[in-house]
Amino acid sequence: MRSLDEIVGEANTLFNSISDTTELEQVKARYLGKNGELTDLLKALGKLPAEQRPAMGSQINQAKDQLEALLKDRRLFLQEKKLEEKLKEEALDVTMPGRGHDKGGLHPVTQTLIRIESLFHSIGYEVASGPEVETDFYNFTALNIPENHPARAMHDTFYIENGDLLRTHTSPVQIHFMLENKPPLKLIAPGRVYRCDSDVTHTPMFHQVEGLWIDEEANFAALKGVLTNFMACFFERDDLSARFRPSFFPFTEPSAEMDISCVKCNGNGCRICSHTGWLEVLGCGMVHPNVLKHVDIDHAQYVGFAFGMGVERLAMLRYSVSDLRLFFENDLRFLKQFN
Ligand SMILES: [Zn+2]
Repeated sequence: MRSLDEIVGEANTLFNSISDTTELEQVKARYLGKNGELTDLLKALGKLPAEQRPAMGSQINQAKDQLEALLKDRRLFLQEKKLEEKLKEEALDVTMPGRGHDKGGLHPVTQTLIRIESLFHSIGYEVASGPEVETDFYNFTALNIPENHPARAMHDTFYIENGDLLRTHTSPVQIHFMLENKPPLKLIAPGRVYRCDSDVTHTPMFHQVEGLWIDEEANFAALKGVLTNFMACFFERDDLSARFRPSFFPFTEPSAEMDISCVKCNGNGCRICSHTGWLEVLGCGMVHPNVLKHVDIDHAQYVGFAFGMGVERLAMLRYSVSDLRLFFENDLRFLKQFN
């Protein structure tokens, strides 16, 4: 029979070689289980002479306690090791720099639209909007451009199968607004418009802002005042000069083109202004009586003026951008400069 010390020594070595808690419990049974070595020894006590039994019993129980203690230590050690490994695996380095996100910004055309809207809003203009798919009546007829009118050829129109069209200007919004509201009216209509056209200065879709003022006293002097002040504010130039050249639009009479002194060279002449010192910025005029007739406004009582400007054109001048297409190519290197 092996000595108790031998058994405890062997068990200790065995326990320490095991690195799995389930396996440890299986090995424990070898000594302390139902048929374990120490259990068998306790069972065999009865065969010993009566006087040896208490001493032997106590020694076996001591060995049992020793084994239990060794097992407990090993179990604890294995549990701690497992926890440590798990923590190591799941460790988060909170001092590491974040991945970071690029800050978004508004598109330069949107920024320009907002700027135009807020400037007109500050002098009492309402902002109106309307559908981008229009009928012939709203886009042309009501604006004094009847069928076969040569002005229709100036608008390279996208037609839809049913005869409707993509609006070629935002003026139809004025027609909607005049039909739904009674004068006096003061509104601007910003939005997308469409024409079959594409080169350095034209894109098939672009933005316009049209304005309209209808009341009993609107006149050309007020038109000049509003637009000159607007341009001075938009370009932040107190010394901006403006001139109005006679022009033709079917929906206004008289009509004019507005030029401002070149914002790049202050009128001295440069490439931007083709060395004239002037920049063409918008078209305008007194609302044609035929337009008022179409929307049932008494043109003997009411007069009005209207104007329309290209948003991209103003954005190009304000930000010194030379190619219109840059606004629609979505090159982030270009767009980031406006954040
Ligand atoms: Zn110039």
